[in-house]
Amino acid sequence: MKEQYLDNLARLAVESGVSVKPGEEVMVRTTVHAAPLARRVAKYAYERGAKRVYVEYRDDALEALDFEYQSTDTLTHKPQFIYDGVNYFAENGGCYIAIISENPDALKHADPAKLTASRTADMKGKKTYYQYAMSNKVKWTIIAYPEREWAKKVFPDLGEDEAYDKLGEYIAKTTRADCADPVAEWKRHAQKLHSRCEKLNAAKIRSFRYKNSLGTDVTVGMPEGYVFAGGSEECNGEPFNANMPSEEVFSAPDCRNINGTVKASMPLSYSGKIIDGISLKLKDGKIVEYDAKTNRDVLKGIIETDEGAKSFGEIALVPFDSPISNLGTLFYETLFDENASCHFAIGKAYPTCVKGGDAMTEAQMKEVGLNESDVHVDFMVGTRDLQITAETADGKTIKVFENGNFTKDFD
Ligand code: ZN
Ligand code: ZN
Repeated sequence: MKEQYLDNLARLAVESGVSVKPGEEVMVRTTVHAAPLARRVAKYAYERGAKRVYVEYRDDALEALDFEYQSTDTLTHKPQFIYDGVNYFAENGGCYIAIISENPDALKHADPAKLTASRTADMKGKKTYYQYAMSNKVKWTIIAYPEREWAKKVFPDLGEDEAYDKLGEYIAKTTRADCADPVAEWKRHAQKLHSRCEKLNAAKIRSFRYKNSLGTDVTVGMPEGYVFAGGSEECNGEPFNANMPSEEVFSAPDCRNINGTVKASMPLSYSGKIIDGISLKLKDGKIVEYDAKTNRDVLKGIIETDEGAKSFGEIALVPFDSPISNLGTLFYETLFDENASCHFAIGKAYPTCVKGGDAMTEAQMKEVGLNESDVHVDFMVGTRDLQITAETADGKTIKVFENGNFTKDFD
């Protein structure tokens, strides 16, 4: 990756991502592949006055060995110290930076049952962290760095070095790290996303109806006082950008009121497995039928995690003509693919997606229809011909998306 891009990415993570303040602690979680960026991030964080930067490295090749040799029981009962670090930084006002850099097929041969058991155990082990992150009580961000196997998968027709360089270019382009002043560029971008949120919030929408030629035809109810968020969010009055890139505005549906058929428009890369051709049927907010063309078992594992994994916790709107989507490239990585497409998430809702949600008890969240689960898995549904209309509180039907993009009223 070009020096300039590396510098800009590090600056973006530290400044636009979590806006590190003097005296703060920073945790960076990544893989061994991303060491050059992790070191650069640490340097910028220290230069901005961070008092401690703690980098925790994973290795996807070692992880594949864990799945090969460890029993399901061992994978389900990992020692708590594995999770203590991330929970500590959340509880003590730290900043959290994740750098994605791994082979999307690393766990291709792993037993799906082991995978689900292990991921569920991880979600439980890190529950404290997730509670902080999903209610904006910790500043967090996710960025990416190229990895060779990943690059080969994204650009199968290129030579290894060429593919690796091109993935670096694309990461820089989609995160705006190729701009002269990427931090200023992110401010402008966040304003655009904020203005879309304001329009959606002002429209007092009761439900959305999605339709396209792929076969999606679904009505998604919205809770009273729903809030669309996107662009930068705030943690104790300080802005942070949770995903870089990010093109989405998102909210939470009323998880008791989703009816119809949903067809995924892209393969979903989930924990080292690729689930293609997802098809779901929902009735009164519950997934009553599901299928997939590849790795149906993995999808089954996700849906059977708990009651909440049978419903949706996120509704996200992304124009088909987003900068990522216009590259016409499938990244096999949700951070990029979800920002190329409208998506839903199976599982947990962000409490901040309804007014006052971050102060609600679990019972109150249930009352307004916010979904609760140990999982949160985004999958993509946007297409070039996606139409979305909305019913408003005063009984009008309005157009929100036409031919895959926001109508003028909401752009
Ligand atoms: Zn999303
Ligand atoms: Zn999501």
